[in-house]
This record gives sequence, C-alpha cells and structure tokens, in this order.
Amino acid sequence: MDLTFTPEEEQFRAELRAWLADNVPPRWRSRSFWSAMPEAAAFELRRDWERRKYDAGFAGISWPREYGGRGGTPGMQAIYDEETQRAGAPHTVNALGLAFLAPTVMAIGTDEQKRDIIGPMLRNEVIWCQGFSEPGAGSDLAALRTGGVLDGDEFVVNGQKVWTTNAVYADKIFALVRTEPGSQRHSGISMLLIDMRSDGVQARPLRQISGASEFGEVFFTDARVKVGDCLGGVGNGWSTAMLLLSFERGASGIVQYTAMRRQFDEIVATAATFGRTGDPILRQQLASRMVELECLRYRSMHVLTQVERGEDLGAGSSVTKLQWSHTHQDLWETFDDLLGPEATLARPRPDTDLRAMQQEAMWSRSVTIWGGSSQVQRNIVAERVLGLPR
Ligand SMILES: Cc1cc2nc3c(=O)[nH]c(=O)nc-3n(C[C@H](O)[C@H](O)[C@H](O)COP(=O)(O)OP(=O)(O)OC[C@H]3O[C@@H](n4cnc5c(N)ncnc54)[C@H](O)[C@@H]3O)c2cc1C
Repeated sequence: MDLTFTPEEEQFRAELRAWLADNVPPRWRSRSFWSAMPEAAAFELRRDWERRKYDAGFAGISWPREYGGRGGTPGMQAIYDEETQRAGAPHTVNALGLAFLAPTVMAIGTDEQKRDIIGPMLRNEVIWCQGFSEPGAGSDLAALRTGGVLDGDEFVVNGQKVWTTNAVYADKIFALVRTEPGSQRHSGISMLLIDMRSDGVQARPLRQISGASEFGEVFFTDARVKVGDCLGGVGNGWSTAMLLLSFERGASGIVQYTAMRRQFDEIVATAATFGRTGDPILRQQLASRMVELECLRYRSMHVLTQVERGEDLGAGSSVTKLQWSHTHQDLWETFDDLLGPEATLARPRPDTDLRAMQQEAMWSRSVTIWGGSSQVQRNIVAERVLGLPR
C-alpha cells in the first residue's frame, strides 16, 4: 500500500484547494442551506456550480485529454474527491453519467456516441439517469421485462423502470431493454440511450420518508428509440451492463471516507450541544465509529494503490462496498441513538438544526441496498473471494 502522493499530485491539491476556497461560499457548508431550498432549485444550483468547475478545468480529472478531461492520475482523482468533500462542495448531479456511462462510452461507444455524449456530460449540459431496476428485477436484474420491438430503424419500447435516481431531473436515461422478444435471462437485452423528454417517456417522482424524491419511476409507452442509440451493440446489453457496473464497483471508498469523517465531526459536535459527551456508552460508540472509519481509510488507500498499478479489483470491490456502506450505517445509527426517541420527530429540538442530519440518517438505510445489496455482496465475497461453494 502506498500512502504518499507525488509532488505533481500535491501541486494539483494546492491548486484545487485554492480554487475551492475562492469558489465554495461558506454558507454552502451548512446542511440547512441546502435543506431549506426547494429540491429543484438546489439541483439547478449544483448543476451551475459544476459548469463553473468545468470552466476552471476541474472536471474529468482522470479522463483522457482527448475527451476534455485533465488527463490526471488516479491519485489526483482521489485528491479531488478528498478536497471537494473537505471544502463542502456540493455532490455532483451527474454521478451516474460521469462515473459509469462515460467510461463505458469511452471503452465501447461509436465515434458519434463519444462525440455526442461525453462533452455535453462533462459540461453538465446533459444529465443522465440509470434505468436498470424494474418492479420485478432488482438483485435479479436478468429478470427485466421492459421490451423493445424493432420497427424500421427504431425500437418501440414499452415497460417500466423503478428506483431511478434523478428520474425527474435527468435529460436522458441509459436503460436495459429486452430487444429480442421472447428472449430469456441474459440474452436478447440491449442498452438503449433514451431521451427523457421524448414522446412516450414519463417520469414520476417517488416521495420518501425523508420528504425527498430524488428517485422515481419511469414509464415507457410506445417510446421510439433509434437503433443507432444503442450502446455496445444490439443484443449485447448484458455485457455492456457488466462493463458499466465494473466502473461502479471500482470506486476506492476515499470519497465516502472523507464525507463520513466530516459527518463524524458533526455528530460529535451534536453530542456536545446536547451535553452528552460524558455519556460512557456514547463515547464507546463514537470510538468504535472512529476505528471503523480509519480501517476504511486504509482500505481506500489499498484500493487506490491497486488502481494505480493497473490491477484488476475483481470481486474485492464487494469488500469495499460492504465496508463503506456498513460504516455509514453504523455512524448514523450512533446519531439516532444520540437523538433517542427524537430521531423519529419531524422537528427534533426546534432550537437546533438537526433536520438535515436526520435526513442523512434516513438516507443511510439505503446504502446497503443500491449498487448491489449487502446480501448479494456477501454472496460474491463468499464465492469469489473466499472460494466457498455456492
Ligand atoms: C436510493 C436508491 C437508489 C437507487 N437508484 C437506482 C438507479 O438509479 N437505477 C437503477 O436501475 N436502480 C436503482 N436502485 C435500485 C437498486 O439497484 C435495487 O434496489 C437493488 O438492486 C435491490 O433490488 P430490489 O430493490 O428489487 O430488491 P430485491 O432484489 O427484491 O431484494 C430484496 C431482498 O432480498 C435480498 N436478496 C435478493 N437476492 C438475493 C440472493 N441471491 N441472496 C441473498 N439475498 C438476496 C436482497 O439483499 C434484499 O434484502 C436504487 C435503489 C435505492 C434504494
């Protein structure tokens, strides 16, 4: 494991840190600034911020220059993740496009797709969402039923997706569609790139317990999609999806560590506000969270070292996902314990600003589901890392 960065990487850190200091207004660091704003307005503000970040040369850090990226090292990407979290910069609004679709297009897209998709995504002119899950197909993705029937040079698509993050804000969706009628399981699927504003495509928000609705359902009713808007070739959707998911699972965990380290400090500060820092049980819990966080930090550096050496992360990525997601949940369970019964109130302690933290605690319940549930990840670790029988 290499815990150091090169002089060039440290130079990049200094430049980025200075730019963030000048461009992230202090009020953005406050959770209440974001939670008080209507969801759509917050989305637009984050979109605009990312455009400015692109203009300043801080987008696509490790992307090749030919695609408008900075051509940086994996270490620079990790520094970017650390510094943006440290500065309290907003999360990207285009995570699914930037982290998963873009590298897939770079690897297997046609020249037209590379030209038309990557630049506009980097400038945040086009926001993408991911249409994989369906009401009857989540962990068992190959059970998907949304179908596309060929009509001339277009597919006519019918079906439904669910849990689609950013469904109501996205401009486009990369969706898995069964384009060979009657095909089963992994065969006969294509990944179609569909305009969310086209006829026959409707997104409906799903409101959650926290009041937020950042995901929703997408309905296709005779939506027409050009055959040319298929990524990775007609009928090759399963292997395209596996390639795309390999980028998701290749995340090092550094961004999660840095975000959670800040959240830990917030929770300690809240304990102080409540006069609970002397509580022996809470102190033990907080110490345990700190140990989990530091273990995650070293795991993240280990993964980053593997990426820098060009090693295949393989099934070990499931270990990282399990580690960061459970650390996140444990952290926010400690916050819930701190609040006690007030954790369930709509407005706990009117004199304090806990609503946004409470929402983060609710959100933490989802992290062991999306991106592959913990049960599914443990199966992968058991079979492919430990070599246990199926
Ligand atoms: C916040 C959030 C955002 C999401 N965003 C998106 C998105 O943008 N796009 C998208 O396509 N999807 C998205 N998803 C969907 C997500 O990928 C699915 O929820 C996930 O794959 C699980 O599928 P499911 O909900 O149908 O549960 P199921 O697959 O029905 O699982 C139900 C339970 O059974 C367990 N289980 C299932 N199979 C096995 C097995 N073989 N062995 C052991 N246990 C098993 C699961 O772990 C789980 O506990 C999102 C989900 C959430 C919560």
